[in-house]
Amino acid sequence: MDTGVLVAWFEEAARLMHQDRERLTDLDAAIGDADHGTNLDRGFNEVAKALAATPPETPAQVLATAGATLIRRVGGASGPLYGSVFRQMGKSLTSPVTLAGFAAAFEEGVVAAERLGKAALGDKTMVDALAPASRALALAVRDGVGVREAFEQAARAAADGAKATIPLQARKGRASYLGERSVGHEDPGAASAALLMAALAAVVT
Ligand code: ADP
Ligand code: MG
Repeated sequence: MDTGVLVAWFEEAARLMHQDRERLTDLDAAIGDADHGTNLDRGFNEVAKALAATPPETPAQVLATAGATLIRRVGGASGPLYGSVFRQMGKSLTSPVTLAGFAAAFEEGVVAAERLGKAALGDKTMVDALAPASRALALAVRDGVGVREAFEQAARAAADGAKATIPLQARKGRASYLGERSVGHEDPGAASAALLMAALAAVVT
């Protein structure tokens, strides 16, 4: 995995966030403040622009730029949370990037977001998609699965994790203010995290 693949990941993520912005905003309208699609459409578009304006020379630079841009440009809770995933990944990633190295850096990124948001699995947040994706990658590394299959498994785990937030009651973020009324809706951040992992699978396959 080289710098180009990581740039392609963020370009594809920007495309998917734009394509699904209304769905993400509708999900946020149900249990939040109806800005998640707008936030991420703008945020990832800014990331793609920043990467095009100053082409990064290393995978770590791609992630550092993505993280800093999301922290700076996204007003909602999701900006700093995604930003911390990528910033930490950039710090953890070793060169050259292998599947095992990527999986380890991704796990550290997810842990950084969990710490920042004080969220754990089952709190009905983006962590419910990110953590299963990270676990799927770790298992793929353990089992010696190829890169392509590994990212497909991670994308599936994230999508399943997002759907699994529907029956949960939110314990973190804006949706937690709704208490039991948050039950029965997919968490918008988990849905966008599933798109992020789908973007990765799309550029690697
Ligand atoms: P805001 O809630 O500020 O309007 P967004 O709508 O962009 O921000 O993002 C909402 C999403 O952010 C939620 O669906 C959830 O997945 C995620 N989120 C919010 N708070 C937390 C938290 N403390 N920990 C992890 N994720 C969180
Ligand atoms: Mg919102």
